[in-house]
Amino acid sequence: MVTLPSQAQLLARWRSIAEPWIAIPSVSTDPALQPECRQAAEWVAQLLRAHDAEVRLVEGYGNPIVVGRIDVGAPTTFVVYGHYDVQPARQDEGWESDPFILTERDGRFIARGVMDNKGQVTIHLAAVLALKEAGQLRHNVAFFLEGDEETGSPHLEEAIQQLADALRHDAIIVSDGIREQNLPTMEMSFRGGFNARIAIRTLASDQHSGMMARVVPNAPEVLMRLLQEAFHPREGLLPLLQEGVPPIDAEVQEDLAMLPFSAEAIRDATGARVVYPTDALSYGRLVGLEPAVAITTLKAGYLGEGFRNALAAQAEVKLNVRLAPTQDPAEAVRRFEEWWQRALAATPEVVASEVEVETPYRGVLLPRENEWLARASRLWKEVAGRKPIRTYCGGGIPVVTAFHEIVGVPLVVTPLANEGSNIHAPNENFRTDVLLEGLAWSARWFGEA
Ligand SMILES: [Zn+2]
Repeated sequence: MVTLPSQAQLLARWRSIAEPWIAIPSVSTDPALQPECRQAAEWVAQLLRAHDAEVRLVEGYGNPIVVGRIDVGAPTTFVVYGHYDVQPARQDEGWESDPFILTERDGRFIARGVMDNKGQVTIHLAAVLALKEAGQLRHNVAFFLEGDEETGSPHLEEAIQQLADALRHDAIIVSDGIREQNLPTMEMSFRGGFNARIAIRTLASDQHSGMMARVVPNAPEVLMRLLQEAFHPREGLLPLLQEGVPPIDAEVQEDLAMLPFSAEAIRDATGARVVYPTDALSYGRLVGLEPAVAITTLKAGYLGEGFRNALAAQAEVKLNVRLAPTQDPAEAVRRFEEWWQRALAATPEVVASEVEVETPYRGVLLPRENEWLARASRLWKEVAGRKPIRTYCGGGIPVVTAFHEIVGVPLVVTPLANEGSNIHAPNENFRTDVLLEGLAWSARWFGEA
């Protein structure tokens, strides 16, 4: 058994990296701060070079991608994915301290980027660099750090295609996002999805409602009827999308049953009176493994102050569709269009319509039979005293899908940040005790043969 760097050493190292890196306001959503994004990329490239890494800044895909490889002649190589860009932050938005100065208060570190994602990347950087200096780094490491995550990584898939060979190693580690209920977490799947906008017209122009109601069709009412059909439990859009989705296997069901579920906590967090799922299994299934359709915008008629008594000629709805992890988005879009054509044929009131489908993307269900997941699990048990929970995420991380499909090596997706970390909000924070657990896990991951 080797003696790995102590908690105090790891935390000091984390701080010495996080502080200056966070001080560079690499806000990718603000074009005026593009030079700062580059500066943050160069800063971390320089840090890696100072530790004998072979580093290149990959250009041509938006902000530079930093690829830095530390080779200790080990038989195994792990890739660490992360992003150095951050969300905007201004002190007058409710920050209690300068968002770009790492501040320690009440058992937390506070700053923009402290957990999303510089702080989480820094956990792996700190562990790897401390181990390297102590001659205890047991694996080669390739850092792959992008700078456009907060703008949706528009060119990343292309970049991964170009760089696939540099990424094809034993496993890729992704630590972004938040642990489930603050317990060690491994994310096992992400859903795919697409957005759709439907606009219908039933009249040439708005009409006096006193004279024309019940005489000619009002677009919002016709749209309501169409939507009612879309949400029909047997013949609607959802059952159509659900068709052919494979049943959830026993192992996944076991994982879902272990998810912490509390209808009370969801009521508290959302202000809802009714929570539909009744247990962990149905909750996990509805959120992570089945399709969902949500109305995100409804627009029709007069939206200003007071009343304008007119039938509306047009009505519009925007839908967000989520797909089961293994579902083919092209096929799902085809079914959506099929549903729409059917609905339209049954609705003679519609004189004109528009349908737009945007950005279909594929989800991913990570294969569970891989030795690195088992290793990650074992190390979490050693560090935190319990095996991690496996989650099936409702949202998507397109980069995970791209790594899985294009690079095709095992992925270990283990978010390290705490709940209540105010991600994308003022006073973004990282609880020190949770941070220390992450450091301990990372030091074991890279320090044990
Ligand atoms: Zn983010």
